[in-house]
Amino acid sequence: MVINYKIVGKEEGFKALEYFVILNDFCSGCSICQAVCPEDVIKFDEYPYLDGNCTKCGYCLEVCPRCDISRKEIEKKLFGKYETNLLGYYKKIIAMKTNIKGQDGGAVTYILKYLLENDLIDAALVTFHEKQKAYPKIVTNADDVVKAAGTKYTMSNVLYLLKDSLKYERVAVVALPCQIEAIRKFQFNKVGEVDLTKNIKLIIGLFCKSNFLYELFTDLIGEKYSINLDSIRKVDIKGKYFYVYLPDGVKKIPLKEVRRYKRFGCNYCIDFPARMADLSVGSVGSDKGYSTIIIRTENGEMFLDKILKQKDIDLKENVDILSIEKLSKLKFDENIKEVKNKIISYLPFHLKHLGDLL
Ligand SMILES: Cc1cc2nc3c(=O)[nH]c(=O)nc-3n(C[C@H](O)[C@H](O)[C@H](O)COP(=O)(O)OP(=O)(O)OC[C@H]3O[C@@H](n4cnc5c(N)ncnc54)[C@H](O)[C@@H]3O)c2cc1C
Ligand code: SF4
Ligand code: SF4
Ligand code: SF4
Repeated sequence: MVINYKIVGKEEGFKALEYFVILNDFCSGCSICQAVCPEDVIKFDEYPYLDGNCTKCGYCLEVCPRCDISRKEIEKKLFGKYETNLLGYYKKIIAMKTNIKGQDGGAVTYILKYLLENDLIDAALVTFHEKQKAYPKIVTNADDVVKAAGTKYTMSNVLYLLKDSLKYERVAVVALPCQIEAIRKFQFNKVGEVDLTKNIKLIIGLFCKSNFLYELFTDLIGEKYSINLDSIRKVDIKGKYFYVYLPDGVKKIPLKEVRRYKRFGCNYCIDFPARMADLSVGSVGSDKGYSTIIIRTENGEMFLDKILKQKDIDLKENVDILSIEKLSKLKFDENIKEVKNKIISYLPFHLKHLGDLL
């Protein structure tokens, strides 16, 4: 597609976002454009699309982290310094095992459950799925938080719910690194008349190497492998395989088949360990059945301190930090080439600040 930049600008409204970001395959699917739209005419199905009358306010382009983001500036404001290593700034890294049946050690769910039960937050923005298609929900009680446990390998437009969540005073958000970049960009550069982030008390980021289009489940797992999507208990990626847990066993699908369904926008993403979260959580670095937790902000530390005193969790301090660094570097090296090519060959302003991390 040939883009004429002279005729496409912020004043073109959604069209500009579509031209610059979505049709160029940059869109991560973070969904903050949906939340910021005052007319609520941006809908989401894998990617945002227009459904209604755009008044051309330009907020959606302005808010988009894939259009312009200065990671260095944001991280300096957030942490007081910019950390050049690929794990980002952090205070401590631990491993946690809980009594929750989660994806790994159930740490994310345990933390949210504790905060809700002890009246430290009013609501949490989490992700459920319908036949493995992720969708977000605001939950206000421990039972619903537990129901949301487990990783969904499709995109959840969780930030769209920021607007609805404003009716709660204190919320926690569980999100992917690209979505946290969107939240932080907004926190330091407000767009529109509504402060979508004023009630956010805790941001939990999940490590993320990549995410996938829903076709992975319909075309590959459903059709090619003839797996009934309703029967899937859990999905996971370990080593060179995508594991599909079924009532009668586990199906191992080679990752090279799965990678064909990687979301386009993931090719331009260089953050694996959710550098801008309060707490980042993943599986790499810890033993099976444990979640690795990177404690980054004072805020994250404050919430976690209360949880670390609980008797029904198991903690370890010997996390394999090298393996987290290795995966972060792998993702960075793979994708920075794509970012550079795009900056050089396509866009005059897009992602200009991604060079921060070079
Ligand atoms: C797309 C994706 C890719 C990932 N890739 C890696 C990886 O390469 N290496 C690694 O170590 N870890 C990766 N993770 C993180 C890992 O799978 C676990 O989510 C993490 O270890 C937390 O486990 P837990 O048992 O503590 O979480 P749980 O207690 O099971 O809670 C999981 C929480 O994640 C939320 N959630 C689930 N799916 C999504 C989603 N799609 N978008 C937003 N929120 C969601 C749920 O709402 C729930 O609150 C990835 C996660 C996702 C969603
Ligand atoms: S945010 Fe503004 S420019 Fe974007 S779709 Fe909504 S009304 Fe149009
Ligand atoms: S990256 Fe986020 S804000 Fe930008 S177009 Fe995609 S969903 Fe919207
Ligand atoms: S790889 Fe990046 S863009 Fe893709 S889902 Fe993960 S955090 Fe978002």
